[in-house]
Amino acid sequence: MTLTRHETLSFLKLAGVLALLVSCVSNEPPKSPDVLRTFSSEHLYTTKEQPLCKTMLDNYCNILYSPDSLGNLEVQRSHDSIKVLQGETKNQFSQVFFKFSQAKLQNQRVLPKDFFNVLARHGYFEKLKTFLDRVPRTTMTMQQRLDSEQLDYELGFIWATAFNETIIARMEVKYPGFHKLPETMIPVELQLEKRRLRRNLVSDISQALWRNDHNWKKVEQNFAHLQDSYLQMIGELDISTEIREKWSKRILEIKLVLPGAFPAISNEECSSTTVNAFYYTYLNVLTICAGDFNSEDITQTLAHEMAHALGIDRSLYLFANSTALSKNIANLRQDMCETKKFSCDEWTAFKDKFASSLDELNGFKADLPEFQRCLKRRETSKALTPDDIARFAHTLTADRISELASSDRFLRITKPELPTPNGKSLRNPNYLNPCSYYMWSQNEEPIDDELTTMIFFTAEYRCSANPSSQRMKDSIEVAKAMTDQVMRKTLQMEGEYSARNLLESEGFSSPPFERFADVIGSYAMAQLLAENPHLPDRQNRFLASSSWQCVEPSLDSHFPEESSIEKEYIFDPHLEGDQRRKELLSAPIREVIACKKDFDFNECSLPFKKPVGGPVISALGGRSAPNIP
Ligand SMILES: [Zn+2]
Repeated sequence: MTLTRHETLSFLKLAGVLALLVSCVSNEPPKSPDVLRTFSSEHLYTTKEQPLCKTMLDNYCNILYSPDSLGNLEVQRSHDSIKVLQGETKNQFSQVFFKFSQAKLQNQRVLPKDFFNVLARHGYFEKLKTFLDRVPRTTMTMQQRLDSEQLDYELGFIWATAFNETIIARMEVKYPGFHKLPETMIPVELQLEKRRLRRNLVSDISQALWRNDHNWKKVEQNFAHLQDSYLQMIGELDISTEIREKWSKRILEIKLVLPGAFPAISNEECSSTTVNAFYYTYLNVLTICAGDFNSEDITQTLAHEMAHALGIDRSLYLFANSTALSKNIANLRQDMCETKKFSCDEWTAFKDKFASSLDELNGFKADLPEFQRCLKRRETSKALTPDDIARFAHTLTADRISELASSDRFLRITKPELPTPNGKSLRNPNYLNPCSYYMWSQNEEPIDDELTTMIFFTAEYRCSANPSSQRMKDSIEVAKAMTDQVMRKTLQMEGEYSARNLLESEGFSSPPFERFADVIGSYAMAQLLAENPHLPDRQNRFLASSSWQCVEPSLDSHFPEESSIEKEYIFDPHLEGDQRRKELLSAPIREVIACKKDFDFNECSLPFKKPVGGPVISALGGRSAPNIP
């Protein structure tokens, strides 16, 4: 929501009055009054019956979105239950919004002080409590409905104001006089810093709200549990010792972070109500968004995200990172951006070794190439020739240089002072520092990153002896030619698994990453479920954890087959809808929840070290094999 400056000022006049309300705020948040419908697979099947796999999941989804559940269910297990909250509260708030608001009320005193003060001055918490306590819409009078709408806008406005005010005040501390700068005079360098401060603030708010949250604690426990399940599962796979050791190590190295806990990736949506999860390939960091851990059992989602750490994209990154070329680029970067020890001798030595160091990037081999090939979403009809690689590298490099040039980046970075419209100059805080032009740089960039191009440019510019206009052109040309070389090697490594649109749309490549994560994640999930001796518990956990796959009644849910066919035409590495459900019902999952396969699907699988004649489940730990009729 955007507000004009005028509205902001008129609202501030009310602040003194509203602040009085703050002391009356009770820290007791409103409780959601809803009684949830309960579910158990035992309601659908007797223990003697073997359910059909996909039918069981479809039935669960139908119940979850039936008129008397509308997305909310309590899934029962022997010793506990799992609340699935994908619908609304009785008074028409999405459950995840309600949870987010409750967290604000409960944790208001640990919010960043300056941010809290603005909210308190506007009576935010009292108003939020009133808003959450509204009656269901069906029983509202016209006036109540309008009051509720107004309060909604007001709350959004106060929240946005608190962000704005806090950031301006923090900028003022860092850059005295900042508050006097007209918008048109704020250079991109300071705008970038403003955005960084905003990220830091989002990060602090998110930690205040969720750090001690019960549902977040469950994510942490599940993550640790799944690490064990992964190690056991990897131990039982019939793969080379080398891959087994590598995969086990990677699973132990993943860092789980609270959404927003890491400013480099903090994101307001993920810290509030978004139902999603992310794995950051270069940072090896995984986060589950608040909307997700507040609305379903997150085991399957976590298992999927963790599998990305074993994927080919992570392998490629680690391979390139292990080369001397990558280390030399990292040194240049550090000397240029951090220690300021950059010297032209270092740059000359780098350029001398550049051509030979590129050769180190030859010879990347994907783990389990047959399995990866099976997981491509579409067949790749053409093989990349050196000419194709040169053509694509040329296009990618030219596009990059064009984008950098159109945002004036080459010019700005080379100027110590920035002119402003009033004739005065501002010091350029990013002068000759390519890293500072990025929102957040943690030295994690892959070798083909745009930052590498800017490092090449800055180094050449600093060391060139040419007169100024020639110096600019030569330096851009050097950066362009070197980028082109790095790009060629990168494309050659990515090859048929590349996720670049350019290669995919011409039929050269198809990325297997997402299907890989679904299949491998399902194996780890099966391993985790296998520990539970009680079959309905395993089924219920699987179903509750698959809730994200259920959709409200829609054309997609009424025509799943045709909807899937339509979605095959989308360039997206994930399988969609019905196809994805089938993928996630992999052989180990089918065994552990003891269901019968009732669908056709071109399944890609990895072999387990099965004991002779034994079912897959015995390879899955075997401590408690389910009763398979
Ligand atoms: Zn994924």
